[in-house]
Amino acid sequence: MNKRGMVMKTILIIEDNADNRTLLKDLLEIKGYQVLEAGDSEAGLRIAREQKPDLVLMDIQMPGVTGLTVIRELKSEQKTKEIKILAVTSFAMSEDKERILGAGCDGYVTKPISTRELPALIGEMLGEG
Ligand code: MN
Repeated sequence: MNKRGMVMKTILIIEDNADNRTLLKDLLEIKGYQVLEAGDSEAGLRIAREQKPDLVLMDIQMPGVTGLTVIRELKSEQKTKEIKILAVTSFAMSEDKERILGAGCDGYVTKPISTRELPALIGEMLGEG
């Protein structure tokens, strides 16, 4: 339960940049979410399968296994396909957005992250808005 007496929802941050991860974690914890972290895609997939978070915040530009691959895998598995995925990318090209949404992603934001807009969007995606 959080301060408002609501059941805490869990968000998994998959992001290779530790500074970005900390920033996002602090922002989301202030908003009352329980936050899990993964610094690489393999750990992200494992934690998503084991913990079944309510939402995954997925950095698209990851070393090794890309964010797009993680999205495709999670959305193709019975166990994880209901998890909402919000992609975070620094790509500005519209074709990349189409590729990401085509992979089954539920939402899309571009870096730099707006600390005002991100929690609002997440709240909407989780049906809290
Ligand atoms: Mn990255």
